[in-house]
Amino acid sequence: MSVTSNLNNIKSSLPDEVKLVAVSKFHPVQSVMEAYNAGQRIFGESRMQEVNVKQAQLPEDIEWHFIGHLQTNKVKAIIPYIHTIQSVDSWRLLSEIGKQASAVNRHVNCLLEIHIAEEESKFGLTLDTCSEMLEQNNWQALTHVHITGVMGMATYTDDFNRVRDEFKKLKFIFNELKNRYFSKNEYFSEISMGMSHDYPIAIEEGSTMVRVGSAIFGER
Ligand SMILES: *Cc1c(COP(=O)(O)O)cnc(C)c1O
Repeated sequence: MSVTSNLNNIKSSLPDEVKLVAVSKFHPVQSVMEAYNAGQRIFGESRMQEVNVKQAQLPEDIEWHFIGHLQTNKVKAIIPYIHTIQSVDSWRLLSEIGKQASAVNRHVNCLLEIHIAEEESKFGLTLDTCSEMLEQNNWQALTHVHITGVMGMATYTDDFNRVRDEFKKLKFIFNELKNRYFSKNEYFSEISMGMSHDYPIAIEEGSTMVRVGSAIFGER
């Protein structure tokens, strides 16, 4: 199957209001361009160098989302063009994004990465550490950051009941954070969950944004 037909199949299965982030990491610019020519505009990448190279070669109207673990010393390089950083898991990172974004006078969207999977190796905040971060720090003073919601990755397993429970947990945490900190905040609205093997379940559980890579571009 071609990138174009994979993309069209997935798009036709998504509700209109669910955004599709095409995860192009490890795939060449030609593949991104094929998806672009099929109408796709939102792309996800997980490494600073790779997204920098691609961004420089590809059309300006692409909305780039950073979805991988991001070290603070790599923030500055992507700030001039990045649309959303989906993997914010510390105050140190959030405040650095705020600082660099304000230095170039751009607004950057951030999603709070929440740990929902059972694997210990995955990054992310819990409801407690996230609440602590938002209570202890003056995130409202970050004038060039919009906290637009949460992101999470379910356990990689065929046990779809477990995957569903993890997505339910992310939705619950989103609602808690919304009520506690963002009830008057129009930006806080996204629940980024669902990948190639589990996005239909994520949508049933309230995803507003799915991040699909291999089902569009093939295996990495
Ligand atoms: C790689 C990646 C994806 C896409 O994974 P696929 O299984 O290829 O769809 C989604 N989200 C994150 C955070 C990723 O790192």
